[in-house]
Amino acid sequence: MQTQAQGQEPGRIVVVGSLNADLTIYTQRLPSPGETLHGEGFTVNPGGKSANQAVAAGRLGGNVSLVGAVGRDANGQMLLDSCAAANVDVSQVRRADGVETGVAVVTVDAHGENSIVISAGANGTLSPADVEAAGSAFDGAAVLCLCLEVGVDTVEAAARAGAEAGATVLLNLSPYAPIPASLARLSNVLLVNAHEASQFLDGEQIPDPDAETSAWEPVLELLVARGLPSAVVTLGAQGSVVLDSTAAAQKRIVRIHPTRVDAVDTTGAGDAFTGGLAARLAAGDALADAAAFASVGAALAATKKGTQAAYPDAAAVNARLK
Ligand code: ADP
Repeated sequence: MQTQAQGQEPGRIVVVGSLNADLTIYTQRLPSPGETLHGEGFTVNPGGKSANQAVAAGRLGGNVSLVGAVGRDANGQMLLDSCAAANVDVSQVRRADGVETGVAVVTVDAHGENSIVISAGANGTLSPADVEAAGSAFDGAAVLCLCLEVGVDTVEAAARAGAEAGATVLLNLSPYAPIPASLARLSNVLLVNAHEASQFLDGEQIPDPDAETSAWEPVLELLVARGLPSAVVTLGAQGSVVLDSTAAAQKRIVRIHPTRVDAVDTTGAGDAFTGGLAARLAAGDALADAAAFASVGAALAATKKGTQAAYPDAAAVNARLK
C-alpha cells in the first residue's frame, strides 16, 4: 500500500467497473408489487457505480482513469462525455459491439428514497482481459476503486493488478454478492452500508448508529479475520463509521457524524462517498480524515437530483468542512 506525502501531486486513482445510463422516474412513493403509479418527471442521466465514483473523484481534483465498457449507442456516448467533463481518462473504456450500454431503472420517492433495477449490458462483457489490456493504467496507481456491478472474476483480476502495483484497494461490496476469500484478502478497505456489512459477516448484528464506538470492535475483529484490515460502514443520513486495525490508524474506530442537509435524492450518495474517499486517500490523507471529507461530499450530493450532476467540487466540500 503506497502512501503519499502531503503537498505532493495527488496519486493516480484507477476505477474498474460499471457505467450505466440512469433512467429515473420521480414519484410520491415507491410502488408496491403489482401496482402502477403516475410519476412526476423522467430523466436520463449518466450513472453506474464505477462511473459515478470516477466522476466524484475527478470533480474533487483527483487524477482518475476508468476501465470499463459501454455499447456503441447514445447512452454510451453520454457516459463517456460526462466522465471526460470531470477530467476522467476514458481511454480504457471499451466500446463493445452488439450489446447495449448498461441501464439502471430508478424510482425516487418524495423523501429521496430509491429503488433500482439494473441491466448490465456492456458491463457484462468486462473481463479479466480488459484488466490485462489496461495494464499500464495500474502502474504507479495510488488507489484502486472496485464494486460488484461487474463480474467478480474481473473485480478479482483488477484487485490483483492493483495490489501488485502497490495501490490501496477499495472494495465497495455493492450491489451485495458473496466474494471469494482471496478477493477480500487483496483488498485494503471495505466500503459497505450496514446491510451489506451484515450480509458479508453472515448476518452479524451491526451496531445502532447511536451505539458506543466500542460496540464496533467485534465487527472489526470479524473483518480482520476475513483478511480485511480496514472498512468504512456508511449509515445513510446517520453518517458513517471508520474501522481501522492498521498501525497507521490513530484510533481503531472513528464515528463520522452526518453533515445535516435537506436531502432531495440520495441516489449515488454512496458513490460520492467512495469517490471522495479515493480522492483524499490518493492525496495522502489518513483513512479517517478522508472519510470525514467524503461524508461532507456525499451529503452535498444528496441535496440535488441525479447522481453525477449533483457531485460537488473540492471548494464546495471545503466550505462546508470549515
Ligand atoms: P448507499 O447509498 O451506498 O447505501 P448510504 O445511504 O449509507 O450509502 O450513504 C452514503 C453516505 O452518504 C453516508 O455515509 C453519508 O455520509 C451520506 N449521506 C447519505 N444520505 C444522507 C443524508 N440524508 N444526509 C446526510 N448525509 C447523507
